[in-house]
Order: sequence, then C-alpha cells, then structure tokens
Amino acid sequence: MKKPIKTLVILFVIVLIFFKIPGNVTPSEVIGEKLPPLSSDSKDVSVYFIKTAHVKTLDALTVAQGSLFNSFEIVHGGILIQHLDDVFLFDTGLGNKIDKQFDEDMPFWLKPLMGYEKGESIVEQINKNQIFPQPNRIYLSHAHWDHASGIVDFPDLDIIVPAKEMNFIKTGKPPSIFPSQVNSKEIKWKEFTFNNENYAGFDKSLDLYGDGTVVFVSLSGHTPGSIGMFVNAADGVRRFFVGDAVWNLESVKKLKRKFWFSSNIVDNNKNETDKIIAKLHALLQKNPELKIIPAHDLSTWK
Ligand SMILES: [Zn+2]
Repeated sequence: MKKPIKTLVILFVIVLIFFKIPGNVTPSEVIGEKLPPLSSDSKDVSVYFIKTAHVKTLDALTVAQGSLFNSFEIVHGGILIQHLDDVFLFDTGLGNKIDKQFDEDMPFWLKPLMGYEKGESIVEQINKNQIFPQPNRIYLSHAHWDHASGIVDFPDLDIIVPAKEMNFIKTGKPPSIFPSQVNSKEIKWKEFTFNNENYAGFDKSLDLYGDGTVVFVSLSGHTPGSIGMFVNAADGVRRFFVGDAVWNLESVKKLKRKFWFSSNIVDNNKNETDKIIAKLHALLQKNPELKIIPAHDLSTWK
C-alpha cells in the first residue's frame, strides 16, 4: 500500500480514539445462571491452544474507551479438542495461504489496521509436532477471514457451521468473508443444528457428546451464525471460548463494546452483539471461576 494512504488511515483512527466514543452495554435483565456441575467424563477431555500469528496493537483499538497507553496482544489461532479418540479443531487461524488471501481480498483501506505477524499454520504445527493429535473435522466460531483462513489447508475434513453462518458465507463479501478462502468447490461444508435446550442461560445449545464436556451455544450477533464453546476438561478448568463476540476480556468485565470504528466494521448486528456481551457479563458474575476466552485476547490463552 502507498505510504500516504496508510498514514491517513492510521491518523484517522487515532483521532477517533481521542474522542473516547462511549460504548456502554446495557446490563442484562436476566441474572446469569450457575453452570451445571462438572461431569465425571471431563477426565476424557484435553484442550490444545495453537497460535498461528500475533500482533501488538493498542488497547483502545479493541475495546470502547480502552487505554491509549496500554498495548494489547492480539493472537490468531485455533483450539484442538480431544475427547477420548475423537479430535476436532475449533477455528483455523491464519493458514498457509494467508498472505495471498489477505492481498487479494482485504480492502486496501483496512490493510494498515489488520496486519499480522505470521507464525506457523495449524496444519504445519500438527504435522511436525507429535504433541498435537490429528483432527477429524473442523468447527468455526464464525467465518471471518482470520478464523477461516486455514480451511483450505485441510481439504479432507468437514467444515461445520450452523445454517445461519452458511447463508452468511454464501452472501458475505470482504472484509467479512474472503472469497479466496471459502469459494473452493473442494471444501466439504456441513451444517449443524442447535437443540432448543438452555445451557448456562443460552437458549440454543448442542451438547456434542451428550456428557456435558463440550457444549456449543449460539452467540448470534457478531455474525449470524457465531457460536461459543464451553469445554469442561480434565484439568478441571471451566472454559468458554466466545469467538469474536468480544475481542478483549475487558469488554465482558466492564460491559463495553469493541472500539466504535472496529465494531462498525466487524459486528454484523450490534444490538444482538450487545445482548451477548451483557449475557457474558452476567454469567461471569455468577461463575467467577469461569475462564472466558475471546479468540484474539492472548492474555486469556493460558
Ligand atoms: Zn477474529
């Protein structure tokens, strides 16, 4: 990109940050629910975090009224879940072809803000590192470019999303959906359906193994078919992977949206996204031991 354009875009965003545009979320009227007790089958579940890229940015770019002086470490990656012999991947991070995909499909004016420092892709790390088990299918928290980039690295695996996300993929355009990532005829898309059963205050859920260890819930808002994943693993930690419902855990703690400019670009339905943030806040108040893990907040990846 030409340097003057890059400088202009960055200056424009810095000016916006100085306005400290409020992004308060109205608290949920419903009190958060207590999580169901840990199932004894949790001993069969392991969680592996795989980083594919990272980049340092300003706290103020990730959360409304965030600090201009604190930096925020963005991570891109995916989570491997092993349940006995079954292994799946949740999100694909930045894949082998990310540079080409980014170059082709990211609008020029967003390129200065969406940069990344690339590491190894998930497929590379799984193939060379014996610690990681091989996944047999992939679920996406949602289909944005930074979660779907690695799909094409796994041509043999089913890529599974709710029907609402499939529609979004079919009709979506950059910067949300990158044709270079999702248009290949080779991709084995599959849809899944939630049950109308409440889990921890979320009215649409899917208990993947029927034993309460891995439970998907609908987090529709950031994208129509965004999903969250509760994992109750052998280490006894209660984790809730919330995709990009928020970028920064501070959003949940302080009831704040993303930074105004960012939210306008990435949140498909801001009202619904607000409701999810309010729900997450209420849930955390009721279950302070719960580890809420936004897909990009490296400080929560521990
Ligand atoms: Zn993302």
